[in-house]
Amino acid sequence: MWSNTKGRELKERALRVIPNGMYGHESTRLLPEEFPQFFSQAEGAKIWDADGNSYVDFVCAYGPNLFGHGYAPIEEAARRQQMLGDTMTGPSEIMVDLAEAFVSQVAHADWAMFCKNGTDATTMAMTVARAHRNRKIILYAKGTYHGAAPWCTPRPAGIIPEDRAAIVYYEYNDPESLADAFKQYDGQVAGVFATPIRHEVFIDNFEPDLKYVQTARRLCDENDALLIVDDVRAGFRLARGCSWEPLGVLPDLACFGKAIANGYPISALLGSDKARAAAQEIFVTGSFWFSATPMAAAIETLHQIRTTDYLEKTKEAGAALRAGLDQQAAAHGFQLRQTGPAEMPQILFAEDPDFRIGYAWSVECLKRGVYLHPYHNQFMSLAHDERIIAETLAATDLAFEALKGTVGSAEPNPNLMKLLAH
Ligand code: PMP
Repeated sequence: MWSNTKGRELKERALRVIPNGMYGHESTRLLPEEFPQFFSQAEGAKIWDADGNSYVDFVCAYGPNLFGHGYAPIEEAARRQQMLGDTMTGPSEIMVDLAEAFVSQVAHADWAMFCKNGTDATTMAMTVARAHRNRKIILYAKGTYHGAAPWCTPRPAGIIPEDRAAIVYYEYNDPESLADAFKQYDGQVAGVFATPIRHEVFIDNFEPDLKYVQTARRLCDENDALLIVDDVRAGFRLARGCSWEPLGVLPDLACFGKAIANGYPISALLGSDKARAAAQEIFVTGSFWFSATPMAAAIETLHQIRTTDYLEKTKEAGAALRAGLDQQAAAHGFQLRQTGPAEMPQILFAEDPDFRIGYAWSVECLKRGVYLHPYHNQFMSLAHDERIIAETLAATDLAFEALKGTVGSAEPNPNLMKLLAH
């Protein structure tokens, strides 16, 4: 029987000693109050909260767990390295192996730099782009997420206009708005940021038009600016290289993070020879950027990416989940809006502008052992096999049934309404 006694106590204790009890994208403040904030364990496709409830985890730590929690070959590689040495006075020799592995795996990459989080990689990409021709303007698709540094964080508190003075916003998937920005800042554009797909919270997700992708490449070439694909969230989830490779467009710089070490803390900036001189000029570093254990985990993750059918399997799992949910929703008189690629599916309800139906359903799922996010895209892992999808669909069917009884009294979430009003 689901309960959250300990989870509620932990949230109260946390409120006293952690701002808001938790901060950033993993805070549950905007989620229904039943959502657990703290977890005690993870294995395969499952996570356990502090009360001991287990859930099929469709958030996968917001992306990192590509092969499932605790995937043995990667854990063993990490443990072997941990015994040898982790944070030393310089990197382990395996840093070179890892850079070589990335260069052979990702088409545009001639070099790699490693850091910890996605924001490190995107900020470093911005710095390299500006150093490339000593220009300052960065073209940024309005509403896309590139991390939590002052130049890109989505909340205004603590940010001054000067932090964004050289950031110019264009419309994602709109080649004309990109061309206009280049025209307006003729000769001043250092680089263009693009997420590989539109995968923002609260909205239907979608893949970009080829024309936009090709125009971004052409305009960067014509204007000697660098094209930056932010693959932090989607990297290795849509393709075994950069996510725009299947479209036939290679960036100059790509940011990877999240999934590249199946949960171990490491991110990467991968660049082409064109950007090498600029990368050699800038000064960037961090105390933990060169720790060897995450690098060993990343080497094994890349090996698994090359040698297993994880990509096909996660696509299949996502498609099975999507089809099952659509059929159940219809049978219970609901309509879903399922968008984005099946392996990173965004699952919203049709005609649910204040998200109250989705929130109510996510609580019913949660209480039946399925952790589905009500406004962020989900992530599949190799551990989401047929058995897990069947277990999930058995629970979601009951959740739709229960929703029929509660949807009439569902209210919008006040914290969410406050945020969306801004
Ligand atoms: N870029 C994208 C596209 C992301 O999805 C994220 C994380 N959600 C980031 C950058 C920032 O990554 P991190 O939280 O590891 O700094």
